[in-house]
Amino acid sequence: MAATSLNAPNAPLLQKTHQTHVFLKPISTIPCQTSAKRFSISCSATTQDRLSVQSQSQDRVFNFAAGPATLPENVLLKAQSELYNWHGSGMSVMEMSHRGKDFRSIIEKAETHLRSLLNIPENYAVLFLQGGATTQFAAVPLNLCAPGDSVDYLVTGSWGDKAFKEAKKYCNPKVIWSGKSENYVRVPSFDGLELNPNGKYLHICANETIYGVEFKDYPVPRNPNGVLVADMSSNFCSKPVDVTKFGLIYAGAQKNVGPSGVCIVIVRKDLLGNAQEITPVMLDYKIHADNNSLYNTPPCYGIYMCGLVFEDLLKQGGLEEVEKKNQKKAGILYNAIDESKGFYRCPVEKSVRSLMNVPFTLEKSELEAEFLKEAEKEKMVQLKGHRSVGGMRASIYNAMPLAGVEKLVAFMKDFQAKHA
Ligand code: PMP
Repeated sequence: MAATSLNAPNAPLLQKTHQTHVFLKPISTIPCQTSAKRFSISCSATTQDRLSVQSQSQDRVFNFAAGPATLPENVLLKAQSELYNWHGSGMSVMEMSHRGKDFRSIIEKAETHLRSLLNIPENYAVLFLQGGATTQFAAVPLNLCAPGDSVDYLVTGSWGDKAFKEAKKYCNPKVIWSGKSENYVRVPSFDGLELNPNGKYLHICANETIYGVEFKDYPVPRNPNGVLVADMSSNFCSKPVDVTKFGLIYAGAQKNVGPSGVCIVIVRKDLLGNAQEITPVMLDYKIHADNNSLYNTPPCYGIYMCGLVFEDLLKQGGLEEVEKKNQKKAGILYNAIDESKGFYRCPVEKSVRSLMNVPFTLEKSELEAEFLKEAEKEKMVQLKGHRSVGGMRASIYNAMPLAGVEKLVAFMKDFQAKHA
């Protein structure tokens, strides 16, 4: 950056710390007591951290979007501090060769952290792929079965339905249960399911992002050689999961663990190597596993961000701790809805309500636009429900602070008092 541009009135402060350049807020917004000169301010690390937090809470909104979604503030700040010159390499992660040792250390660390978070056994491969979870709707059947093979889909929302429709192109899928006629408000009892004795796999969407229906327990395929496959896009790393119950788990990163552009696949290694002949090379899990997700250029920056998020989740105490926080946040929001005497309503059966996506409607639906407008004035955004269901939806992923949910609940009570 040219020195002259740094002298512009709103130019960012550039501080040299060790080998890393840290961009701080424009000078006019920093409430620092020192006689700050550009290029050298003398705030201590602690003061600087405090400044960052202050500027965050002033500048940032509570973002309840379903994905891409809010990311942890400390992760964003760390990425910011490493953006210009990653670990003294003289370049940003975006500029690195994916085959160089620096990027290899980044992707390996991301995988190691994810393995410890989810306790992923050695006989499972972890892949960092592209194309979103939607691409996995095709990749799963292309890799796990032959064209005529039977597979089962348990459909608890529109993502599971989309996955089923895509699978029809590549194998012989059957919907063994669908909640569509009830507008997707529950998960069925597993006892009565008519599972195919020859089904190569049983597919579920572990958390239906739009309808807010989450599996709390998992069905077992009837075929002893069949495997359970789960789309965990919207509850990935939100709680501990026994990976060994699954043959394959996939998740788009952009809800709980990073930016869009990365899709993570965790697949049992013995399932690799059976891709259908027509499988494009980019959808063949074995090719990606054999090349440690570096067969072609991967979404490098997104993988780096996921790595920072995994590290942060470990620092928080791992997924047991993360789950406790998520239960607390969801608990106060569902309570507020249930205690509103019908002013707000969540249609989902209580036992399977999602910890991540909380859909709710207003008894007086004509107030919805005002609710959203007023919430936005209070810096709470993206609360509009998915276009296919209407109403509201608060997505409260790992990175949504408790303060955000408390603020929403206080706002909801206030709004009700004004309009009841
Ligand atoms: N599955 C679920 C559960 C989702 O929530 C989404 C995205 N909202 C998808 C699949 C599709 O993901 P992508 O846009 O990454 O393809």
